This record gives sequence, structure tokens and C-alpha cells, in this order.
Amino acid sequence: MNAEIVAIGTELTSGAKLDTNSQWLSLQLAELGILVLYHTTVADELDRNIDVLRIASERADLVLITGGLGPTQDDLTREAMAGVAGVELELHQPSLDQIEQFFKGRGREMPARNRVQAMVPAGAEPLLNPVGTAPGVWMELPRTSGEPCRMAAMPGVPTEMHKMFREQVRPRLPGGRQVIRRARINCFGLGESATEELLGDLTSRGHDPDVGITAHDATITLRINATGANEDECLAKISSASQDIRNRLGDYVFGVEDEQLEHVLVRQLIQMGKSFVTLESGTCGLLAEWISHVDDAAACYRGGMVRPVLPQSPMQDARQLQALMLADFVIYVGEEKLESDATGRLVSKMEIGWAAADGRTWSSQLPWSGNPAIAKSRAAKTALNELRRALSQPR
Ligand code: ATP
Ligand code: MG
Repeated sequence: MNAEIVAIGTELTSGAKLDTNSQWLSLQLAELGILVLYHTTVADELDRNIDVLRIASERADLVLITGGLGPTQDDLTREAMAGVAGVELELHQPSLDQIEQFFKGRGREMPARNRVQAMVPAGAEPLLNPVGTAPGVWMELPRTSGEPCRMAAMPGVPTEMHKMFREQVRPRLPGGRQVIRRARINCFGLGESATEELLGDLTSRGHDPDVGITAHDATITLRINATGANEDECLAKISSASQDIRNRLGDYVFGVEDEQLEHVLVRQLIQMGKSFVTLESGTCGLLAEWISHVDDAAACYRGGMVRPVLPQSPMQDARQLQALMLADFVIYVGEEKLESDATGRLVSKMEIGWAAADGRTWSSQLPWSGNPAIAKSRAAKTALNELRRALSQPR
């Protein structure tokens, strides 16, 4: 079974509002193993809505519609559904009673306009909406070939739509024959293309499970999408692909799902009973901010210093801070401003390093390249990653 999602609203096509409903519905359908092939967004215009629904009903087995179920003149979804089915709208008395009850419960009379919300295309079924006034619509459209197209209209307001999908629409869907499960593996220290090269056939089209690569702020995430007859089959595929990825990428892999480098480092230091501090300049306190968001960071993080300019000798300053704060480790990152390179061009670079109370140190310089925000993140992450790698090696 494949699906199309139709988001209705001039607010959406004009750019005033972002269509998040289609994204949410696609994720829900993916869990049921229903493939979404189209997202269509259309303005509040009856003829265009009818066109869109007609096309959708021909090319998709399931059409999920959001928006345009309200009582105002620009709410046209019911009419559009009646139009595409070639039927009239009919009053559904139990829905009208429910809408009147909704207003009574709030000590108000139902405005006459709300009566249209109890109208459904002849032959369609209303979907009750306990949290708002507008009922949804479930309609099956016969098709010349095979099964009818199933069409469900839900409110545009996201919380109302979520509830109606879960309670009224999902139970009406023929149980998806396939299950989809996802997993993410996070890596640092390699570019996208180098990662792809190491992964070889794992990321090729048609590989089962599907493995995709995305990069964000210098961190590479491998997204595994497994499809199977049941959850166990998906989990087995994910586990075997994860093992393959770890074998090929080794120490570049640092975490899974939402884990970032700072989560892993904080966990390592807590396990070792060690503490650390940070020293930064030119990063606006990136390291301190990331670490402060980690649960339990207070158990090992003694604090961070953010300086307006890089000190003459950052390693020396970092070690002084570490001694002053009685910490076991210090990590530093700083931007070294404008220096002439071989061709006489002025360039900046990032100074990074770490030191341990036992005398071990590591330092490096990274060239300043690409987007400045990413250059800073990359430098700060490289410093975290180097300490993470040093701590995970047996001594
Ligand atoms: P109402 O009874 O509130 O008129 P409705 O079903 O007619 O409900 P719309 O008028 O289309 O829905 O949208 C109501 C509100 O829901 C919009 O102002 C917007 O904030 C939100 N909304 C609508 N569609 C979407 C969407 N696709 N993604 C995210 N939010 C949406
Ligand atoms: Mg509306």
C-alpha cells in the first residue's frame, strides 16, 4: 500500500506556516510499513483542492488530508471531498449534536456557521474529534482498477490531528504488511566521502538494510532503515549492519542515537572518577555550553573559562587553569587570528589540545576552512574526540 499526504491551507503555500503535519504523518505511516510517495500542499481554493484530491486518489491507495475542516469560508476540505466523489454533502445529526454539546460545555451557544462541520459527503463516515469541534472524514472512493482509494481528512491543528490519526484513522488502515525500524550511529573525524569509501557496499542502493550518511556540524551520522515482516527481523538486520559499520569505521564511531561526543566523554570521566575543565577563546563558549547540557556533567565538570582572545601559550594557560581548579584534565580550543600563509594570504587557524594532571598532553592546529560556525564546532569536537580516544585506550 502506498500513500499521499495532502496539506491544505493558504497559510502553508504562502510560507506563513511550515507544514509539519506531513512530516509527522509520514513518520507514522513509515512505522506501519506504508510507503509515502507524495506530499502535496495546496492553497484554500476549491477547484484546486478537487484537482489535487482527484490526482491523489488515482495514484495513491491511501490519501491523508490535513487542514480546512474548520467552520470558516476558507475551510473547503469537505466540499472538495464531495466534489471528487461526485456526491452532495449531508448533515450527520450525531456530529451536530456533539458540536452543540462542545459549545454547551463551554457555556456558549453554537454559532450557526459551525453547522457546516457536521456535514459529510454522502456515503462517507465522520471521524469524531473529542478535542476540537471539527469532525474528520473517512471516505472510500471506488477505482476502476482494484481496491478503492481510502481517504481520511483530519484537522490542521497538529494536536487535534495527532489524536484523530491515532484513535480513528490508524485502526482503519489495513495492517501494514511490513515493519520499519531505524537506528543511528554517530562518527567523528572523517569526512562524508571518506566515510562512504570505508563503508563500501554498505551504503549502496538496494543494500538491505538501507544505510544513509548525513553530516551535521562535522559529525557524521549513519542512518540505518530496516524493513522486515516483524520487529525482531528489523532488529536483527540493524544489529548486523551496526556491527559491520563498527568493524569498518573502528574508533571513528563514538555513539548512537542522540549521543554526542560530550555525552560519551562525560560518561568516561565519571566512570574513571576523574574531573575536567575547559578553556576557550573565539568559540563563544561552545564547549562549556555543550557540556552543561549533559545530564550528570556536574559530577565531573569543574567549569570552563571563556577568554576574549587566545592567550600567548594556550597549553600553558590551560594547565594553569587545570591546576587552579584541581581538575584531572583540561581541554582547550582557541582561534588564532590572521596569519600569512605561504602565498601571503591572511588565514586564521584553531589551536586545540588537552592536558592531564599526570603530565600527558596533546595539541594540534586546525586550518580555518569552510563555514566559520562549522570550523569552530569541528575544532571543539576534535578536542573532545581526542581526549575521548585517549581515555578509551588501555594504558
Ligand atoms: P480550524 O477549526 O482551526 O479552522 P482546520 O482543520 O480548518 O481547523 P486549518 O484552518 O487549516 O485547520 O489550520 C488551523 C491551524 O492549524 C493553522 O492556523 C496552523 O496553525 C495549523 N496547521 C494547519 N495545517 C498545518 C500543517 N500542515 N502543519 C502544521 N500546522 C498546521
Ligand atoms: Mg480553518
